[in-house]
Amino acid sequence: MTRPAARDPLDILKATFGYPSFRGRQGEVIDRVMAGQHTLAVMPTGAGKSLCYQVPALARGGTGLVVSPLIALMHDQVRSAEAAGIRAAALTSADQDRDQTLRRLRDGQLDLLYVAPERASGENFRRLLEEIDLSLVAIDEAHCVSEWGHDFRPDYRLLKPLLDSLGPVPRLALTATADSATRADVMRQLGIPEDGLILAGFDRPNIRYAISPRDGLPKQLAALVAEAPGAGIVYATSREATEKLAAQIGRDSHRPTRAYHAGLDPAVRAAAQAAFVASEDMVMAATIAFGMGIDKPDVRFVAHAGLPKSIEAYYQETGRAGRDGDPAVAHLFWSAEDFARARRRIETEVEESRRPAERTRLNALASLVETAGCRRAVLLRHFGEDPPERCGNCDNCLNPPGAVDATTVAQKLLSAAYRTGQRFGLGHLVEVLTGKGERGPSLGHDRLSVWGIASAAQEAALIRPVARALMARDALRADEHGGLSLGPAARPILKGDEPVPLVLSAPARTRRRRGSGA
Ligand code: ADP
Ligand code: ZN
Repeated sequence: MTRPAARDPLDILKATFGYPSFRGRQGEVIDRVMAGQHTLAVMPTGAGKSLCYQVPALARGGTGLVVSPLIALMHDQVRSAEAAGIRAAALTSADQDRDQTLRRLRDGQLDLLYVAPERASGENFRRLLEEIDLSLVAIDEAHCVSEWGHDFRPDYRLLKPLLDSLGPVPRLALTATADSATRADVMRQLGIPEDGLILAGFDRPNIRYAISPRDGLPKQLAALVAEAPGAGIVYATSREATEKLAAQIGRDSHRPTRAYHAGLDPAVRAAAQAAFVASEDMVMAATIAFGMGIDKPDVRFVAHAGLPKSIEAYYQETGRAGRDGDPAVAHLFWSAEDFARARRRIETEVEESRRPAERTRLNALASLVETAGCRRAVLLRHFGEDPPERCGNCDNCLNPPGAVDATTVAQKLLSAAYRTGQRFGLGHLVEVLTGKGERGPSLGHDRLSVWGIASAAQEAALIRPVARALMARDALRADEHGGLSLGPAARPILKGDEPVPLVLSAPARTRRRRGSGA
């Protein structure tokens, strides 16, 4: 099919979207698509990924196909495209106006067609595409194609045969979250050449990152809310926790608060979301169901009341803060039990073949949490960038933590867990190591070589923080009753091959941040 001469993308940007210029690396991505080249664009949320396919679809003429995994988002995307004057429709199993959409498609009346991957991969759909003038295929949330990604969707695997049947139509894969392993996998699976990668900057310099162990969460949250007067989100890991936190924060801060989770009635959810978008000081306690597709640029803080799923998830969730470029805070509150639970889940609920990837993901999160260095540097390195050693706008840069060498205490604690049979909780191990309490002698533990070997005050004080660090790095594992056993990372520590530096945190550091800007 011969296509009419393409229009100038910049003209379209101005005329259709009303923007004077491309932002970041949008221009480069669009140039490649216009030239018919396959591309993977990795850009953080808010960078403007949609424009990267919307503009070339209009400029090339014909219809652009957009594969998108979430039906709810798809309808938002159609609506916002239509608002810009783009002729767009979605083809989902939930649609009533399917026949009309097909008619518009065949008549060349659609600039963009959004479909879910399971539909795109069908044989009927492939034949349908042969009938139309296809300008490009955009694959949104392209990390879903990779098992290395944090959100693998088997349906995405079925796209490759479709793409291969389409001949030279340019493919544009887009994602906000892809580490280098995922990136390489996505490119291989979608047939994108090595020089087709465009990686935009991930740094969000106006977000100040802070991470501390949970230690009286209500008080910690109250301090954060007091410090950041604007609207904010507190992510919790369960529905009950969102309701409890909302009540607590409301009581402590006298700010409007709401809870948001998937169990609420859709109308209640929509109302909560609308109220949040309109508010300048609301605190939303929510599960991660909240935030996707919400356009609120002036979120002043995002707190995590528990561990996020991965660094990618953490980045995406914290990225909802400060999209207007003004100072914002991202504060993660974690506990060793979060890591213990996540590790148990991997070993018991995750399919065996996926465990190595999940372990790697959790370890990356542990190193972000444990680092005494710059948080931003750890984050950006994770996304393949080469950032400066210090950013000057994270807890560790603003208030460098002291570190002590806790290797000996770690070895003593691991030995105590081992010698007592790998089933006692931390409380008992502390008693054994400090040689105190009645229970040890009644169990005969006072006759073990580890009885009382960390009774010196400096060492005793380190046992609990060391336990936390060991659990984060999988040297100690907790069962559901808190019983501690050795994990795979214990051996090198016991052998003296792996040091255990301990970051001296945390309450003091949390407090010192008060009143310093934001
Ligand atoms: P992403 O999908 O990468 O999260 P979006 O495509 O939703 O980002 O775009 C985020 C916002 O940035 C939208 O409001 C969009 O209109 C705006 N935007 C995108 N490109 C530009 C640009 N070149 N100039 C100004 N605003 C832009
Ligand atoms: Zn820093």
